Amino acid sequence: MANLYEYEPIVGKDVINELELYASKLANVSVQHINSTAVGGGVAEILIRMVPLLKDLGINAFWDVIKGGEKFYEVTKKMHNALHGQKVLFSKDEMDLFIQTNEMNVRDMDLGGDIMFIHDPQPIGLISRRKEIGHKWIWRCHIDFSRPDPFTWNFLKKYIEQYDVSIFSAPAFARELTIPQVLIAPSIDPLSDKNKDLPQETIDTVLEKFKIDKNRPIVTQISRFDYLKDPKGVVQVFRKVRKYIDCQLVLAGGGATDDPEGAKVLAEVQEIAANDPDIFLLLLPPSSDIEINALQRASSVVLQKSLREGFGLTVAEALWKAKPVIASSVGGIPLQIANRYSGLLTHTIEGTAFALKQLLQNPTYGQQLGINGREHVRKNFLITRHLRDYMLLFLSLDHKGKDVLFL
Ligand code: UDP
Repeated sequence: MANLYEYEPIVGKDVINELELYASKLANVSVQHINSTAVGGGVAEILIRMVPLLKDLGINAFWDVIKGGEKFYEVTKKMHNALHGQKVLFSKDEMDLFIQTNEMNVRDMDLGGDIMFIHDPQPIGLISRRKEIGHKWIWRCHIDFSRPDPFTWNFLKKYIEQYDVSIFSAPAFARELTIPQVLIAPSIDPLSDKNKDLPQETIDTVLEKFKIDKNRPIVTQISRFDYLKDPKGVVQVFRKVRKYIDCQLVLAGGGATDDPEGAKVLAEVQEIAANDPDIFLLLLPPSSDIEINALQRASSVVLQKSLREGFGLTVAEALWKAKPVIASSVGGIPLQIANRYSGLLTHTIEGTAFALKQLLQNPTYGQQLGINGREHVRKNFLITRHLRDYMLLFLSLDHKGKDVLFL
């Protein structure tokens, strides 16, 4: 695991000095992160790197995962889809199961952090312990909240408003709440196995392992197999483009322990891919960071054709590798891509196919988008900026209502 000083050549000394200043004011504070999965998906991806770096800064950070059965995760996945705008009906039993599982975790977990940092809806009910133990409580939402289903939103709102503060990833997700909301975008770690530079041999070895031809253009989408990532739409885009341009499609994704839908979605994609030798459907195990890094680096174009997206770390990952990215203009993606400057934003299958043809036919244009994209990520979406925002928020919890903090 990298230490803070290794980031200096990437972000500059001033950034590191600033982080040390904030950390020095938080030296005796403990921060307990709690979410619903240790592997898979963007939240775990961030915490795996964030928690050790907070520790490296001298903050007593730690991370726990709630427990829940299969049925609980079916309910929370339904909630996730409802918050992303899908029409979903919940039975009373389902809501009871959500409440009971949270209550069970309240009883069984050691909730000892001075700052309790709760991620997403699954563990939101832990706040019920607040009356008894006090502490400061933060609720961090990683979901695209632009059009949540009203029933699910109203249900969660009762919990959210018991927290000290809420965090959303993008301005479009801000909601009417009685507690303060702050906007903090997620981030990637440039020194992780997922994002660090790789020698060409490693990239070639990964392509050989999956029998992908390195001499023909490769178009890639890395995502959990989830309807909201629209993998079937990606196959349709590819089919439209391949009529004109010889290319290969890589759809790579593993599961997340809190996402029970993956196998079903993968089966549907397999059916429409119908053994096409130029479509590579890769179900990757959790520890595939080097493989994903290599696939992103080997790609001519990276797609992220999501229908909803909290942020889309995969976009930042590809931009950091200076890749041309075509992504849907949804959720947090427009924070990362300024259309025609740091990538291309699209709305439909046809539009995505048009953009893909354009980039495959004009690699120089794609390269320039990639270069701009990498710089945009360097300035805005690296983990050092994220650490800074979190530490400022921690400090502000002791100065409620104050606009200026004197350190
Ligand atoms: N990812 C991975 N293996 C996979 C699929 C995705 O490691 O098979 C990673 C991906 O590289 C990214 C994260 O999981 O870092 C997904 O985050 P994102 O914000 O793109 O989407 P989420 O899954 O949180 O909706």
